[in-house]
This record gives sequence, structure tokens and C-alpha cells, in this order.
Amino acid sequence: MVSAQEVKTDREYPPFDRSTRDGYAVRAKEVTPGVGLKCVGEIKAGDTVSEALAAGTCVQIMTGAAVPRGADAVMMIEYTQRDGELVRFERAAQSGQNIVPKGSEAAAGQSILLPGMRMGYVELALAAQVGAVELQCAKRPRVAILSTGDEVVTVDEAPGPFQIRNSNSVSLAAQVRIAGGEPVVLGNAADRVEDLGEKIERGLKEDALVLSGGVSMGKYDLVEKVLTAMGAEFFFDAVAIRPGKPAVFGYCQGKPVFGLPGNPVSTMVTFELFVAPAIDLLSGAEARALPLLEARLGEALNEKPGMTHFLPARVDWRGATAEVNALKWQGSGDIAALGKANCFLVIPADREKIATGESVSVWLRKDVV
Ligand code: AMP
Ligand code: MG
Repeated sequence: MVSAQEVKTDREYPPFDRSTRDGYAVRAKEVTPGVGLKCVGEIKAGDTVSEALAAGTCVQIMTGAAVPRGADAVMMIEYTQRDGELVRFERAAQSGQNIVPKGSEAAAGQSILLPGMRMGYVELALAAQVGAVELQCAKRPRVAILSTGDEVVTVDEAPGPFQIRNSNSVSLAAQVRIAGGEPVVLGNAADRVEDLGEKIERGLKEDALVLSGGVSMGKYDLVEKVLTAMGAEFFFDAVAIRPGKPAVFGYCQGKPVFGLPGNPVSTMVTFELFVAPAIDLLSGAEARALPLLEARLGEALNEKPGMTHFLPARVDWRGATAEVNALKWQGSGDIAALGKANCFLVIPADREKIATGESVSVWLRKDVV
């Protein structure tokens, strides 16, 4: 979810000078190699500390405990020897060593969460740390999902020999959830103007509508036509990418509408490229950039130039070096190939031959890597 409010700290962090080690709190200038100091007590995490450290003494202290006034360093226990009340130090201490000063992480009343921030586990811990037990978050955008096609049957139906199950509604619902939206699955529309019109009308009641199929050049690809008749304005109706070329985007009756191509890998790729960032924006967050990284190409590639290509691929890490190899696939209908991939290899439109060892862009599948 995305935060819709500002959260401020309730006090300074840390709230006291905090020891980061188990050891002895000392006055740094008194500690040189071989020096012995009398240990006058111990301080555990959570103990109330009021007395100052007297000159010529030290106090045993645990990680997370408050450093007493007068002390300005903590010597790790590993560099000391204990003989009754006497502690002998093997090293010199430096002022400030192993202490996080009060207020050095955050001041009191400092803003630590802002509207538009995505609430990951770190942000939740921050809110918890300052006692923000209730948080106002943006409503998850409701995203209607409508697949199209006369050949499509529900996943629990037995398909006829030339029919296919509606996997797109399932993958799109998962993608909407992962992107931070609330999927509203509307089922499938036949390749008929009336059925499409009725179901699109229903979809436009939600915050955004995502269609799959029916946006190519075929005689029964009616999505754009029906949307146009309903008053849609298109911002693009083709993209120089493969897979995903026929993707369309527009507004219809005030709602953003995405017409994604029906081939499953095209549907998945175009969702991530266009719909996921829209869900960010509808949630009040900044649109996230594609998580691209550089990798060394394993097997050489020979691609047709003219469009940006997204190839199912596997990236493996050998030490710190990522090496990527494209997988064999049968094109944008091949979900099985994508199932073996952990990333897409991104080939810019102007590239043709790419040699082994060249640096290439890799787009990680964020749900599995
Ligand atoms: P279209 O974009 O409508 O031309 O669809 C292209 C191809 O994608 C179809 O021939 C189907 O094989 C496949 N397809 C379309 N809709 C779905 C769906 N909902 N689930 C799985 N595959 C689909
Ligand atoms: Mg179709």
C-alpha cells in the first residue's frame, strides 16, 4: 500500500546515547594499551542510567544499553581482560567509538514517512518504531480485468479441441495485486460488439480497465472500435516493442483504459510496461522505473532491428558478475518458456548482432528474483 499521510518521530532516535557493542564504557583519553581500570558496575539494555561515570573507572555495558554521562567510548569486550574488579585494556579507545549519539538517526518531530511512499517492510518498521499504530493509506486502485475472444473458456471448463483456457485473467489479476491494485475480474467477452460494449461499460465503473485480446488487425479485433464508439480518446494504439506491438491506451468516460494484446506473454509484458506504472500513479505514488540491470551476454544474439525486443531469459550470478542467456521460445504465446525465465533480455531497437561478452540490459521478473 501507499502511505497517504505524514508520520513524524515521537522523540529523538536513538532516545539515548546507545552502545553498539558488549564491552566497557570508558573515558577514551584514559584508555591506552595496558591500562587497567576498576569496573564499578554493569548496565544492561533497558536499565535506567542516571549516575555519571567517575574518572578512573569503567562500567560493563551491553549492546543497546544507554551509555552513562562522562563516558565517551565503549571498548569491545574482545579487547579486554577481566581480573576481579580490574579490567585491563589491550587497545587505545577513541572518543565516540561504538556509541550512536542520542538524536543522530532522527530528531524529535522529524518527518520520516510522507504521502506517496510505498509501505514496504522497512517503512512499516519505521512506523512501528515511532508508535504510529494506525496509518492512512491510499485506497488500492480497483482495476477491472476483461479478457476477450470467442476461443476463450474459463479455467475450470474443459476446453474444446480449438479452445483455450483464460489464463490472461489469472495472470493479470496477480499482476494487478503485485502492482498494488485490487483486481476486479469480469470474465470474458465474446468477439461481438454488443457483448464487448456491455462488459466494457461494467469495467468503466472501476478506477481503470484492462482488456486482453482484440486489439490486433484481425476482422474480429473489435476492442478499439467499440471503445471509440463509447467516446474513447486514444493516446497510443501501437508500440514499437515485441512482444506487445498492438497495445493501446486511452481514456474512456474519464477512466484509463488499456487494450493489451491477447497472446499471454504480450499481455504480461505490456502490463508491466504500461499498467503497473499507472497503478503507482493512481495510488498516489511515483511510477516505478523498470528494474533494469547490466549483465554479460552468454550466447550471441541476432535480432531483427526496428523494435525493442523483450526475450525470456535466465540471468545467473557468477560471483558478482551477472551472465544472461536468452531461452528458446515459440513467440508470445509461449508461457512455458517464460516459466523457465527469471528475466527478460531487453534489446534496443537499433541493435542486430550482439556478441558473447557484450553488456546487455536485463529486466528482472520482480515476482521471482
Ligand atoms: P488476440 O490478441 O485477441 O488476437 O489474441 C491472440 C492470441 O492470444 C489468441 O489466439 C489466443 O491464443 C491468445 N489469447 C487470447 N486471449 C487469451 C486469454 N484470455 N488467455 C490466454 N490466451 C489468450
Ligand atoms: Mg482475440
